[in-house]
Amino acid sequence: MGKNKIEVARCAFCGRSENEVPLMMYGENACICSDCAEMAFTRAKELLHPQSSIKSAGKVNGEFSLRKPHEIYDFLSQYVVGQDDAKKTLAVAVYNHYKRIENAEKGSGDLFEKSNILMVGPTGTGKTLLARTIAKMLNVPFAIVDATILTEAGYVGEDVESILTRLLQDADYDVKKAEKGIVFIDEIDKIARKGDNPSITRDVSGEGVQQALLKIIEGSIVNVPPQGGRKHPEQQMIAVDTNNILFICGGAFEGIERNIGNRLNTQVVGYTSTKTRSRIDRDNLIQYIAPQDLRAYGLIPEIIGRLPVLTHLNPLDRRTLRAILTEPKNSLVNQYKEIFRLDGIKLIIKPDVLEYIVDTAIEFKLGARGLRSICEIIMLDAMYDAPTCNRKTFTIDLDYAKSKVEKSGAILVKDTAPVID
Ligand code: ADP
Repeated sequence: MGKNKIEVARCAFCGRSENEVPLMMYGENACICSDCAEMAFTRAKELLHPQSSIKSAGKVNGEFSLRKPHEIYDFLSQYVVGQDDAKKTLAVAVYNHYKRIENAEKGSGDLFEKSNILMVGPTGTGKTLLARTIAKMLNVPFAIVDATILTEAGYVGEDVESILTRLLQDADYDVKKAEKGIVFIDEIDKIARKGDNPSITRDVSGEGVQQALLKIIEGSIVNVPPQGGRKHPEQQMIAVDTNNILFICGGAFEGIERNIGNRLNTQVVGYTSTKTRSRIDRDNLIQYIAPQDLRAYGLIPEIIGRLPVLTHLNPLDRRTLRAILTEPKNSLVNQYKEIFRLDGIKLIIKPDVLEYIVDTAIEFKLGARGLRSICEIIMLDAMYDAPTCNRKTFTIDLDYAKSKVEKSGAILVKDTAPVID
């Protein structure tokens, strides 16, 4: 049935007539309006390609759009192995943060407080990866800064405001865009006050920096030097409102287990019971982290208050390290396979090679970062020869892998370097 056979052309989905819709499209026996067609297209894409719809989660028609915590969690899981508590906490915090912005933009006021996040966990367990992956998903400007380079105004190092310079740079100096970005401040533990007592002398790398940081993360208008570094009087500043910038801080807080352990012991003593005590997993105390432990470690209470979402990352066990090699979308194994595939070669890595890589990383305490260095050592000669070798497959077996690592000796050097007096 063509157009002339339908008396009043109505969309078969919404029932509106031709003059009520932007565009009507005619099929054999029915028609569909452009609004319903668009909706059907989006829905079909979501159902048929769930990953790609999650991947573009940050953008709809080039604009930022809010995704639900489950979707954020699923997206993170494509790249980050384990760390379920952190992923869940981040998903909720990020969702709430951007919901708050959306709400404020609709004029519904500033009901919620900003949900800046603090992630505590050993180095190399995925803190930066998590923050980076969230920013990738949301498609917002993202900057990573190391807290150790920051100092109080007047001292050697960078002014705290330079954190925002990085964000501006990532947003191509679009201030409005930067004002909805994410900043990851790494090694926040390194600006902790040394000792539990407030110092009366000036503390260049500790409390002063925390105070300066406080102003930025709690939400205020900050004058930012466009080129970063140190501010100087003639420089023209860019005013940035930090109210809607999400700050994610990370730190290893080495030794904080002692504070956690002490607190748990004191709590347990007095009213209980070996039962409560035995339920505590002494091998992974970081999971019980609480704000008071951070205070005992040397963060000032004001900073702790401005990082209300506290989560932890677990040390990586053998199973997780093994999974990191193969499971993430951009896992190391997938990356090497892709490199070889581009040269028309099928790369085969035997399972016992993967076990060997994990064993070596554990033996030399190299963690997840070490996986990459070990893989590089094993793969270097293969990658050197592959483009010219005219082979269809390249197999890495255990003997090959061992011979490369043993020949290199590079890993051994790290841990057994002689001490020079
Ligand atoms: P952190 O910031 O905690 O010191 P990173 O996030 O920089 O650690 O991790 C270092 C590297 O180790 C990452 O780039 C990633 O390749 C790998 N890695 C660490 N933890 C994980 C994890 N849980 N899942 C997947 N990869 C991980």
